[in-house]
Amino acid sequence: MLISLLALPLAAASTLPTFQPRDTPFAALFKRDGPVPDPNAPDFASHYPPNWKTPNGTTVPQAWKDKLNSIQLPANNPVATKSQSNGGSGYDGIDKGGNNPDICSFTWGCIAKSDFFEAPNGTWLLNFDDGPTQDSPRLYDFLRSNQIEKNATHFMIGSNIQSWPKTMQEAFNQGGHIAVHTWAHPMMTTLSNEEVLGELGWTMQIISDLTGGRLPAFWRPPYGDVDNRVRAIAKQVFGMETVVWNKDTNDWKIGTANTTVDSVDEVMRGFITGPKSPGIVPLEHELNNNTVQVFLNSYPLMKENGWTVLTAPDAYGLQWYQNANGNQGPVLSAMNVGQVQTALVASASSANPTSAVPSTGSASVAANATGSAAAQSAKTSPSTQQGNKNSSGARLGVSAAIFLPALALLL
Ligand SMILES: [Zn+2]
Repeated sequence: MLISLLALPLAAASTLPTFQPRDTPFAALFKRDGPVPDPNAPDFASHYPPNWKTPNGTTVPQAWKDKLNSIQLPANNPVATKSQSNGGSGYDGIDKGGNNPDICSFTWGCIAKSDFFEAPNGTWLLNFDDGPTQDSPRLYDFLRSNQIEKNATHFMIGSNIQSWPKTMQEAFNQGGHIAVHTWAHPMMTTLSNEEVLGELGWTMQIISDLTGGRLPAFWRPPYGDVDNRVRAIAKQVFGMETVVWNKDTNDWKIGTANTTVDSVDEVMRGFITGPKSPGIVPLEHELNNNTVQVFLNSYPLMKENGWTVLTAPDAYGLQWYQNANGNQGPVLSAMNVGQVQTALVASASSANPTSAVPSTGSASVAANATGSAAAQSAKTSPSTQQGNKNSSGARLGVSAAIFLPALALLL
């Protein structure tokens, strides 16, 4: 078995199916009875939890709970409260709050070693949150017309996919990289373990169903709200890497508090014409017409300034999905979800997230909006660990071709 799997990169194209039957044993975690739900069928939505509600325990498959019970969560892993005045996550009674190294909340400005936070020098990690929406097709048209449709990561909301499955498939079919942005866009650190399972797992499930069985390998926490407990569930239960950002465009604020398309264009111009070291992981959205317009306005300058625009996995030399290295070609027929990516990345970064950023203090967080507080802190914080990680020749130089044999060794 091992020998045949080691031959996978050469033999795969002709011996493995491109699209995987739903009942293959690649992941007991995502195996469900019956055919893959048809996005054209009127009952499509009924195969998934209710729209825009955090899936509760009754919808969480036992396999996910069993996997959760089999992993070791960080020792100090409280569920955050929404006690702060801005609605941000709070950790009452804990020394340093979210900046306690055991907790390491990005909302509080703490970046874990395992977080994808910066891009390699000269790289603009092209990514859009909150899709698919009714305004996504306009973005997709633009990406296609500029021949960068295969260079974008789309962090998608499960509930939006449930509402616009074919728009999601448009992004996939044109070559975009699909990743997870939770089911109902909550502050993840305030959820119970089971709710975190539901938010991540169901979004993976609907993406897998609509992409021929591909299992997402990357996710972005809404508002950047992630701590070590949530990171551990994302990675150890579901095998996903956490992607945050080092530049917040604030496009999500357009229409409020003196933020306009023009003012965000100006912010983008600053990023694009600014330093290329480190590279940029922006926070941008395919949320509405305005956020899409900002990218349309900004891309010509990005091109003119010589940025290399890449998906998240291509920026870091990783596989696109846990069981496939692209939107076409083979999907591995067997794998152990939640262990593969961890092992792949372990050689280049720590498996144990710890604080890499000095405390910003809860007072400064409370004075800012939730998402921007993290971004502001992230932008101005020294990021030694991340700098090492992302500038590592070993890590970035590893080609996707050698990941498949590595994967086979783990089966
Ligand atoms: Zn979002």
